[in-house]
Amino acid sequence: MNSTIEEETKMYFYENRLKTFEGWPFTEDCKCTPETMARAGFIHTPSENSPDIAKCFFCLKELEGWEPHDDPQEEHKSHSPSCHFIALKKKVEELTVEEFLKLQKERHKFIIIGSCNQAITQFETAAKLRGAEILKTAMDEE
Ligand SMILES: [Zn+2]
Repeated sequence: MNSTIEEETKMYFYENRLKTFEGWPFTEDCKCTPETMARAGFIHTPSENSPDIAKCFFCLKELEGWEPHDDPQEEHKSHSPSCHFIALKKKVEELTVEEFLKLQKERHKFIIIGSCNQAITQFETAAKLRGAEILKTAMDEE
């Protein structure tokens, strides 16, 4: 990881998260507007097929399939009860340096767990494919 401190901490700030919600499908007459999404810690991470993927910058929980009446705060809490950011009682700007560093440490745990899980999934997918190949070869030889 060679990201700068500025990049590292950028998404702690509401304005920066809000900027990611360009093209977000829910803007009027609904609970999950870009503003409420960003306030709940989400950043917009759309893919070609899913324009409504949002990810918590902190716990990295990804949620999609949003409905207009979904409350981002509630969705975040119920899908990721261990997220420290959504449980925060203060604004990021009001944290002491020590509190901020503690929070950042917790965030890194989520990042590490995320990349480990990704590696495990990749390995399992590769193992399954290889297993199927071996089975096919064995059956061809019979
Ligand atoms: Zn979270």
